[in-house]
Amino acid sequence: METLTDRKGTLFVLTGPSGVGKGTVLSAFFDKYGRDGFFFSVSATTRAPREGEVEGVNYYYKTHEEFQKMVDNNEFLEHATFCENRYGTPAAPVDKELENGKNVILEIEVEGGLNVMKIRPDATFIFVAPPSFDELERRIRGRNTETEEVIAQRLQKARWELSKMGEYDYIVVNREVDKACDQLRAIVDAEGLKTSNNQKFIKEVQR
Ligand code: 5GP
Repeated sequence: METLTDRKGTLFVLTGPSGVGKGTVLSAFFDKYGRDGFFFSVSATTRAPREGEVEGVNYYYKTHEEFQKMVDNNEFLEHATFCENRYGTPAAPVDKELENGKNVILEIEVEGGLNVMKIRPDATFIFVAPPSFDELERRIRGRNTETEEVIAQRLQKARWELSKMGEYDYIVVNREVDKACDQLRAIVDAEGLKTSNNQKFIKEVQR
């Protein structure tokens, strides 16, 4: 992360339709650039784990009752229902890591991103877009983990999600993962160099 001085971390919200490859771009990003200086927020969900997913790494898997209790206790920064399952970002780790100067990355769906815009307008909002709608459909089907009914639901939802793209700060088209991952790096670096994120440095150098 390019930065001029010690400062509070930046909150990055990475969103985009299900199946566009947000997770793939992010893991390529961490493989290429390392996790130093970053904190990836692990969400809670009522969805059942997919094969190979691990509790506490991919998600915290909750029953509907447990999830509702977290909502009632105000434990979420944001939460949303996506294709009949609930997903939420635990607030406490996000605030703690930002305070520690880490760049915090949320990988969430579009509605959750719009909700974060209302409460954290200073965050950086990135929309990962597919090269085309047909390509998105191919990717969702290619994952082979969902029933036809779920696929249809996700495609319908994706149309609405794509309609919200213009509200985000940046668009990264995931045509090639490596290129998308470099574009994400460029955004992170540019945010780190913003004057608004470097007030301490400005004061020091103007003394
Ligand atoms: P999946 O079931 O494919 O893992 O996730 C479905 C959608 O929920 C994806 O677009 C994913 O980014 C999103 N998602 C994951 N965690 C959260 C969260 O904490 N909040 C919100 N709003 N969406 C989430």
